[in-house]
Amino acid sequence: MNQPRRPGFPARLPSASPGSGTSFGTAKPVTGNPARVLPRVAPAPAGVGLDSSAVRERMVRRLADSGIGSAKVLAAMGAIERHRFVDSALVNQAYEDTSLPIGLGQTISKPSIVARMAELLLGAPVAQAEGLGRVLEIGTGCGYQAAVLGRIAKEVYTIERLRALHEKARDNLRPLRLTNVHLILGDGMLGYPKGAPYAAIISAAGGEKLPEQWCDQLAVGGRLVAPMAGPDGRQILLVVDKTAAGLKQTVLEAVNFVPLKSGVA
Ligand code: SAH
Repeated sequence: MNQPRRPGFPARLPSASPGSGTSFGTAKPVTGNPARVLPRVAPAPAGVGLDSSAVRERMVRRLADSGIGSAKVLAAMGAIERHRFVDSALVNQAYEDTSLPIGLGQTISKPSIVARMAELLLGAPVAQAEGLGRVLEIGTGCGYQAAVLGRIAKEVYTIERLRALHEKARDNLRPLRLTNVHLILGDGMLGYPKGAPYAAIISAAGGEKLPEQWCDQLAVGGRLVAPMAGPDGRQILLVVDKTAAGLKQTVLEAVNFVPLKSGVA
């Protein structure tokens, strides 16, 4: 059977109608495959006596207590069901503040860093002036962060270099029907010029140095948030603001992301 294993909580399972087609935006050069639309009906696994909205609310409270002040970000974190993006064996850990494996040696970022980075993006001058417009995410992974960004930005272009994860994200996102989230298979080190200029660029993978293309594709007034190797080799969170006068870099806290790699695999 090709029915994917779905993590499920007893309550509030979605009912995507079969044959309804790809329900979120897909940017070229992705080749969509509407024939593979599967209904998302998962039986509640025995023993998972967890109400997902209550645990998510608790997660959101913890995020607020730890300093996330943006109501938009907190609402997005409360709305997106993180347990639907992880393997069924990990469902019970989905609302803990921890990264979890998603296959191929990659991880879903922990909720606190997803919220932190989303809040930083909203701090871009263009976002403060007119709301968060087009965002480029490097490293789709399982699609969780893209879904969160889809709730706070006008358009999200998210690029993944590993085909299997790109497809997993497509399957995970389909039932959410986020028409403003566009999935691209490609090398995010080159950015994605077709969507440029971006109000914000966010990387979920840590590089050695900032790719020039990212800065080129950022709008004036836009902001880039990415893990990067610091002077001592340890990863730090880097914020780059593009102003009319040039680029302004700010180094924030130490972080721990999977490596940014080049090429598609
Ligand atoms: N945002 C993701 C986190 C994924 S982990 C989530 O919510 O699940 C980071 C991802 O970056 C991995 O899937 C990895 O394959 C991808 N990645 C690394 N280098 C990349 C590159 N050059 N272009 C696109 N994706 C890349």
